[in-house]
Amino acid sequence: MDTNTSLSQSAKHLKKVIPMMSSFKIPFTPVNYAIWYCYVLGRNLEFNLRLDNILKSYKTCPADKARALFDEFLSDKDLALFYEISTSFQDTIEDVKEDIDKTLATSQGFSAFLYQCNSGLQGIKNNSVESYDEVLGIVDQLTEESVLMQQNAYSFQKKLESAYAEISNLKQTLLSTQEAANTDSLTGLYNRGRFDLDIAHFCNEEAPLGMNHALIFIDIDHFKKFNDDFGHQKGDDVLKVVANKVLNACGDSFKGYRYGGEEFCILGDFSGISNALNFAERLRKSIAKLCVKSKKSDKKQRAISASFGIALFEEGNTTPAFIERADKALYLAKAYGRNRVEIA
Ligand code: GH3
Ligand code: MG
Ligand code: MG
Repeated sequence: MDTNTSLSQSAKHLKKVIPMMSSFKIPFTPVNYAIWYCYVLGRNLEFNLRLDNILKSYKTCPADKARALFDEFLSDKDLALFYEISTSFQDTIEDVKEDIDKTLATSQGFSAFLYQCNSGLQGIKNNSVESYDEVLGIVDQLTEESVLMQQNAYSFQKKLESAYAEISNLKQTLLSTQEAANTDSLTGLYNRGRFDLDIAHFCNEEAPLGMNHALIFIDIDHFKKFNDDFGHQKGDDVLKVVANKVLNACGDSFKGYRYGGEEFCILGDFSGISNALNFAERLRKSIAKLCVKSKKSDKKQRAISASFGIALFEEGNTTPAFIERADKALYLAKAYGRNRVEIA
């Protein structure tokens, strides 16, 4: 059942941590706990690869390497979260275990009682009034015991439900933390860290993702001047609006990222260059419709535009080579006058 799957899956991660740490002779310090928990969760590919390499070279994870990994990939917030999760989880498991023990004991007692009643009933042979009274007495006891059993089962079920809710909560907290780590806080797009991971996966030599995949770089034109004239706050508002257009254009089909500053990028399977080009043209035109007015002066208006560079994945492209091709195309779009799309 769902309850059991969820319980066992969440418990699985915690149960793996300790034997793994023991087998690599890792001291049980809070930092090491956090690192190994993150490793077992396996959500951050780069983190796992780095730890794998350390283990390969040292056959363990030395304290300085562990600290460096922690500083680079985890934060004190993760450590606090780890504590919270492991403590609540431990408490929940302990509670459930205790309830199971109690329920088992009660049901064993009930079976023994049934057996006793059975022998009692077998023993009543003659049809006297006393024997009927004896039967009635046994039935009374049986009813009483079975009501107790039902109450016990009901309260156990309630406890299981609340344990399930608590573990779902913990899972949700973990998911939100993971999501926050992948998201750019200003725009809500995926962030640079997530892009680096995705592009590495994208250009992975063992499983290249095919010729129809494209990388599109987008850079807002003359944004420094915009900030100078309208202020940084207004600049942030423009970044949010442009990001929203990127997000809407991508839908569920492609992935949009804030690459850094006023630069965005999109990764996905466009089924060929002409689709990628049409997609970029549509997005460029929709950004070029934006116009910002200054509150101070009605006359002060500024049209927003962005330049685009597209690279279609070529077999053998390494991550830097693929990015460089898209970047060069973007450079050309700037050089040819901005507010335009160029292909590598
Ligand atoms: P180009 O058309 O050649 O791209 O010119 P540009 O001015 O857009 O490019 P440049 O790289 O010279 O300047 C980028 C500017 O983007 C500088 C910086 O102030 C602004 N910027 C970067 N990040 C942010 C941000 O988070 N908020 C705001 N408001 N501005 C930002
Ligand atoms: Mg730029
Ligand atoms: Mg720019």
